[in-house]
Amino acid sequence: SKPLLHVNELEKVFSSRSMFRKKQVHAVQDVSFTLEAGEVLAIVGESGSGKSTVARMLTNLIPATSGDIVYNGESLRTNRQLRKKLPTFVQMIFQDPFAALNPHHTIGYIIGRPLQVHRLTQGDLRSRVLELLRKVGLSPEEDFIDKYPYQLSGGQKQRVVIAKVLGLAPKVIIADEPTSMLDVSIGIDIMNLLLDLKEKENLALMMITHNLGSARYMADRIAVMYAGRVMEYGPAEELIQNPQHPYTKLLLYSSPDPWREQTEVFEVVEAQVQDASGACCSFHNRCPFATDICRTKPVAIAQLENGHQVRCHLYA
Ligand code: SF4
Ligand code: MG
Repeated sequence: SKPLLHVNELEKVFSSRSMFRKKQVHAVQDVSFTLEAGEVLAIVGESGSGKSTVARMLTNLIPATSGDIVYNGESLRTNRQLRKKLPTFVQMIFQDPFAALNPHHTIGYIIGRPLQVHRLTQGDLRSRVLELLRKVGLSPEEDFIDKYPYQLSGGQKQRVVIAKVLGLAPKVIIADEPTSMLDVSIGIDIMNLLLDLKEKENLALMMITHNLGSARYMADRIAVMYAGRVMEYGPAEELIQNPQHPYTKLLLYSSPDPWREQTEVFEVVEAQVQDASGACCSFHNRCPFATDICRTKPVAIAQLENGHQVRCHLYA
């Protein structure tokens, strides 16, 4: 059967023209994965890795340069109808709940208005909004419906954002660093809420994060991105317990991850994140294992066991 979401060799090139030269940056290159209902995929990477660019292409905020995004067998590239109904297919939660809510509108309006616009309520709008508030754990619901965003805490605001997104009944929710602006314990509450809703509503979740700890907490599978490419991909526990790519190891041993003992520390050469277009391994200038081949030959993906994949010459 068709996967809910199939991404095939996605690529994004940004071009800018200055007075003297045209510059191209390959922000995303050769990214492929599938996502099924009830699954959580985490895309992990530092800023500039291309992870948010992938999310923006999946929600059609920016067009892909090449490759394909297929929802339930329908291609976003070729199917105009899909583009129109896309908001009821995929919705995005951003990291800043403070910026996401219009301060002049009540919570009831913020959640109710998209339901009106997309004609999604058969019955009473108010009772549907109350139901959504209940689903995201904002109770008593009657108290919240007439409040304004400034009267809510950061965690409560992120719950309102989730209620608003949930109202559109999307099949996929993409959460881009949904907890990074919140206190740790509030962030864990939000992650638990998303996992709970994923089960109850049979959603597919995509989590965009720089934190392998929260990726491990949330995800069934993890894709580690660097300089626009997926460097390692696999079942979450397998990838964390048995990391293969030197970059994944660097991330694991350099992040203060409470779920893992730190046994090894890499010497990191600070370097600019490289453009993905180069005919070499884009990680070579930070990699302790780099050899001549890494600087001169493109790297193919090696298939390991259990769907575990790694893009490194050491495994060729
Ligand atoms: Fe390091 Fe070479 Fe592997 Fe790149 S291909 S990660 S430079 S060993
Ligand atoms: Mg980002």
